[in-house]
Amino acid sequence: MTPQKQADKNQHNLPPNYTPLEIEKEIREFWEKNQIREKLEQLQTSPIIKGNLGYVEGPPTLNGIPHIGHARGRIMKDIRYRWKTMEGYYIPFWAGWDCQGLPVELEVEKLLGVRNKRESIEKYGMERFIEECKKAIMRYHAMWLEADNRLGIAINQDKAYWTYKDSYIEREWQILKTAWDQKLLEEGQYVVPYCPGCQTSLSSAEVGYEGSYKEVEDPSMYFKFKITATQNEYLLVWTTMPFTVITDTMLAVQPKAEYARVKVGDEIWIMVRQRVEPLMAELEITNYQIIETIQGKSLESKAYDYPLKDMIPKQAELETKHPLVHHIIGEEFVDIETATGIVHLSPGNGEDDFWAAQRRGIPIYAPYDDEAKFTKDAGQFAGVFARDADMIVVEELRNRNSFVKIKKIKHEYPTCWRSHHKLIWIARKEYFLRTDKINSKVIEAAERVKYFYEEPKNRFIGFLKEGKPWCISRERIWGTPLPIWTCENCREKRFVASKKELLEVAQEEIPADFELHKPWVDRVTIKCNKCSSTMRREDFVLDTWHNSGASPHARFTDDEEAKYVPAAWLTEGIDQTRGWANSLLLERIILTDRAEAPYKAFLFQGLTQDAKGRKMSKSLGNVVQTNELLVKTSADLCRFYMTRKCSPVDFMSFDMQELNRRSYQVLSTLYHLSRFFMENATFDGFKPSKYPFELALKADKLQPADTWMLSVLQDTIEDYTTKLERCEFNTALAILDDFVIETLSRLYVPMIRKELWTDDPETFERRQTIYSSLHYTLKTVTLLFNPITPFLSEALYQKIYRQLEPDLPESINLTAWPTPNIAACNKPIKEQFEALLKIVSISFAARQQGKLKRRWPLAKVIVVAPQKTLDAVKPLEALLLEQTNVKSAEYLTTVPEYIGGENWVSNQEDDITVFISGKRDDKLLGEGIMRDLARRVQALRKELGFVPTEVLESVHIAELDAESMELLNPYLEEMAGLIRARKVYLHLRSSEVETRWFESELDGKKVFLNIH
Ligand SMILES: [Zn+2]
Ligand SMILES: [Zn+2]
Repeated sequence: MTPQKQADKNQHNLPPNYTPLEIEKEIREFWEKNQIREKLEQLQTSPIIKGNLGYVEGPPTLNGIPHIGHARGRIMKDIRYRWKTMEGYYIPFWAGWDCQGLPVELEVEKLLGVRNKRESIEKYGMERFIEECKKAIMRYHAMWLEADNRLGIAINQDKAYWTYKDSYIEREWQILKTAWDQKLLEEGQYVVPYCPGCQTSLSSAEVGYEGSYKEVEDPSMYFKFKITATQNEYLLVWTTMPFTVITDTMLAVQPKAEYARVKVGDEIWIMVRQRVEPLMAELEITNYQIIETIQGKSLESKAYDYPLKDMIPKQAELETKHPLVHHIIGEEFVDIETATGIVHLSPGNGEDDFWAAQRRGIPIYAPYDDEAKFTKDAGQFAGVFARDADMIVVEELRNRNSFVKIKKIKHEYPTCWRSHHKLIWIARKEYFLRTDKINSKVIEAAERVKYFYEEPKNRFIGFLKEGKPWCISRERIWGTPLPIWTCENCREKRFVASKKELLEVAQEEIPADFELHKPWVDRVTIKCNKCSSTMRREDFVLDTWHNSGASPHARFTDDEEAKYVPAAWLTEGIDQTRGWANSLLLERIILTDRAEAPYKAFLFQGLTQDAKGRKMSKSLGNVVQTNELLVKTSADLCRFYMTRKCSPVDFMSFDMQELNRRSYQVLSTLYHLSRFFMENATFDGFKPSKYPFELALKADKLQPADTWMLSVLQDTIEDYTTKLERCEFNTALAILDDFVIETLSRLYVPMIRKELWTDDPETFERRQTIYSSLHYTLKTVTLLFNPITPFLSEALYQKIYRQLEPDLPESINLTAWPTPNIAACNKPIKEQFEALLKIVSISFAARQQGKLKRRWPLAKVIVVAPQKTLDAVKPLEALLLEQTNVKSAEYLTTVPEYIGGENWVSNQEDDITVFISGKRDDKLLGEGIMRDLARRVQALRKELGFVPTEVLESVHIAELDAESMELLNPYLEEMAGLIRARKVYLHLRSSEVETRWFESELDGKKVFLNIH
């Protein structure tokens, strides 16, 4: 080898080992130093752009540390961004942060060590509390930035939106103003879920969140109300919430059902007929008798004696307000399959109850304060927290012969998604978006969206169909203030839509730089237009989901909104069917009054669990934090693993053990294939400009193996891109994975490797052709990998492809997405190879049955198959012999007579049978030994750091037994060629030569090697 060539082979800068962490550090610095992100952003104004694909970031809430579940969604977003950008689209991939509302406040309460809102205000004061909220979100923001940076998420952080900023709040108010003007925003009294822990109402969407239903223990109480003006007739009722007897207003029966009058002791109890026997068994009453059955309808409008009137004077007063108070009504919703078929209605505590009262004009009796304690309207119960009244009620009913039985039951019951307190339903005066009025538009818009998978779609549409009014007011501190001022005197209301307007209408001078938050905004008072009294702001902030749901409007300018909304594609967790996906949709329809969602496609991702399939939670201590993980784990491997592991909609069990297996195998194979190519190509002075792939293709210089591999590559490009388009990221990556491992590494490279082991000038042109197709193939694969593994792809791009072609774009992210090259597709060759590969695989199975190792050369293979298959495979005989490791082949359509006996092993699949002769003569044995030793020498070469192209001076082998030496002798020259050595020497004893011996083994016996 000339000194020049010696120097050439080191002209690439890929270290011998794939070390992803080092690569990633280097590439991160490269991106930063060369402002690659910023250059991607410039595509917005670039003339080659295909178009805009709108995007709005689903803002992570800055109330916690980013974990691996968050990473999964961010990886999907980044995959799509990098891929579509390479396809020539511009995406406003700009960050966004959810900064306020209940989740942040609760986190700050925890950080400050206070238990509730009242305590935070008492201890810290509102201004200080809000400063603490801001401090907390900035602290979490820094962690999110770090996570994005480590993961390689190319999102634009400079253009991030923050939901707490005045500019954002004002645009959010514009949506509310539209609702206000259309009478879709109103103050109203409805039954809403209320969390006693968080001391605020929730939206009905929030009740169904993942994990909010928990098994809890509640009382299960039977009680009875006496029918008015009877001696001893009682209605039997059941409840798990005894405190609601305090707000009881009516009883309801199923009009069409059959009820029974049952004699129990001296009394007559009424209950639904079909439940008599099970109820009596449950109540342990054996001595009873059904006297009569009656229609439910006949019970309607009967009055009953409400037993707690003496304790609650207001209940007596209610009877004078409406003739149906404490009467029986008929309602279709009454369930007769369980309990007694008689339901007590507390319109102040239940949704069905509430609507039943509303329909009849019955006053809503809801004597609760902001902490869900009874007010003085509840008489002797005043000051008692709702659920604490349970046992008092039981005792009082007992005292009045209204109590029957109580025990405990365990049942699934909704709890607060943040604090896990048991929710209670209370009729409250709140502000509601009357989304029930626009429900048909909402459904119509949602139906038009693409969801990629059926199940999440059904779940989403199913939820939307509930179509309840959206309670948007929250009794909290840190949030977007509800911009409604109400007159203290005449109750006139005024909606103020901007800071500017507020400054104009303020009664007193206020500093122009005041912030649109409590407590500052509360200090603004307005003079009432009607009665000249003072108007004060309604003391509510908005539901945090209203903040993020406003983003398509609030995060953009009007021009940008016109360009980027509806967004082309969004993705968030499946839990967002009740969260962001919903609020986005509702607010967009309110704003535009059109049946159009702010997104054309929405991929709901499955959630991420731990390796054992358990939910990740602080209490289990199994949360995998992104930053902690990526200090010691490669981002590329993590991205690969999380994409490949399962479908985006499936629950994913994140397993650290798995992470390094297949992902590492594939990426390190790609790395080493690239290195193999670069080493050989550099050695031969390959230049893509001199031997472009198109030229090799046109000049018809390709061998069948090249043509086959290139055809498979074209399919790979097409299938991979199609799967990405369908959001089947896992199967897309599987295709690429298979191409690298199977087609390239296991099949193609071994077919051409030997052709590269020579520097014979005769075959120079052929080697250039191989380099040319390998260059094209590996570069294409590297580009295809870029969305999934941007670090490795960029590294290979910089260190190989930009070295060979310095004129390429500065970063892989700025190159164009590969498209299939029709000219490189050859269907007949592909079919020939499919036949060949099938025969090879059958031959391996045959060898396995006969216990004949694959590396043993054997004399003959016989392929018995239909003529068509034989015709396909015959032209590839050289490859067939090499792949099956035999000396000759015969092709037949039927099994020949002479086959039989022990000399043949065979296997069959479909219409192909393969026979292999199992007999090994001296020649075959000798060659087998030679190949075994050659493999060991190759391993040693690698271990000692010899470059594959380097020619060894001499190879010494010692301590083989005499018989093996004799068998091996005729093959020494062939072996020298195979292992790229000038000469191979055999020694009986290692002591014969003074050298450094390396111990190895052959068929269980020690053998010694030396190379230099
Ligand atoms: Zn709560
Ligand atoms: Zn007024």
